[in-house]
Amino acid sequence: MTTLMPEDIIFDENQDDAEYLGKGMRITIGAFVVIPLIAVAFAIPVAWGGWLSWLDLALAVGLWALTAGGITVGYHRYFTHRSFKANRAVKITLAFFGSLAIQGSLDQWVADHRKHHKFSDEIGDPHSPWRFGTSRKAIAKGLLYSHVGWLFESDNTGIEKYAPDIARDKDLTWMSKHFYIFVISSLLLPAVLGGLITWSWMGALTAFFWAGLIRIAFVHHVTWSINSICHVFGTRPFQSRDLSSNVAWLAIPSMGESWHNMHHVDPSSARHGVLKGQVDISASLIKGMEKTGLVTDVRWPKPERLAKKLKNPEDRFRLRGYQPE
Ligand SMILES: [Zn+2]
Ligand SMILES: [Zn+2]
Repeated sequence: MTTLMPEDIIFDENQDDAEYLGKGMRITIGAFVVIPLIAVAFAIPVAWGGWLSWLDLALAVGLWALTAGGITVGYHRYFTHRSFKANRAVKITLAFFGSLAIQGSLDQWVADHRKHHKFSDEIGDPHSPWRFGTSRKAIAKGLLYSHVGWLFESDNTGIEKYAPDIARDKDLTWMSKHFYIFVISSLLLPAVLGGLITWSWMGALTAFFWAGLIRIAFVHHVTWSINSICHVFGTRPFQSRDLSSNVAWLAIPSMGESWHNMHHVDPSSARHGVLKGQVDISASLIKGMEKTGLVTDVRWPKPERLAKKLKNPEDRFRLRGYQPE
């Protein structure tokens, strides 16, 4: 296995997409991500009224928002990058909803993600899509590996080394150790709610399917897309030392995490969508929590500082809150 350094990759600064990927390969990779979504979209009208109800949909959307937010605001922006400060109750709530996304225990997630930032697209990155090389075949293999394959690697990132703050926190260690409780809860909760509200086994079953299985798969795919798609395709307005990129169509499902090029340039920023028009639901949630006093010391981006990191200086006028001197 050869692992590439970003400087080894022949990369055209002015070319936003990975041009070395042929059309056929792009379609194949796109299909891998899009076909499950289309299948679900088609299944909705077919199942509607029988195998799918308004209740299933409401439970699925509600649990999606809570668990996706638990990952983006909790696991990622708070626990990994410390973009703001929170009291114990808020900390536990964020860890609770993040754990319900079933993306692994909090301590392991944080350690893996910090290692990703430290070695981004270089040797040591747990999930770089560039690890097998730059040929078409290698990128396709790398995309699959960074999307899901890396999760099955047995060499876990050292928690003591990369997440000592989490390891020292008794609440978070307990929640990480008892991760299985959240796995069971995340699967059972929709079934119990669906069953009790409709008072039927059928209601329990359909809620389990839509608000349990489909919701979990959806949040998984979106998070993994940040590791795969957002290091290969998209735009790179900022000068980062890796191949992270911004992917607009993933902004809403990922709650703002797909402004990933900016995130690698300023990892502790509470907002990733810093250019005008870049929707960032997680940043809006943090803003709301700040206004209600739930969180403090939020690290909002500094436009003047970010302006220096733009490839094209003219783009500084697109930065939110930029004041021309
Ligand atoms: Zn990244
Ligand atoms: Zn990050």
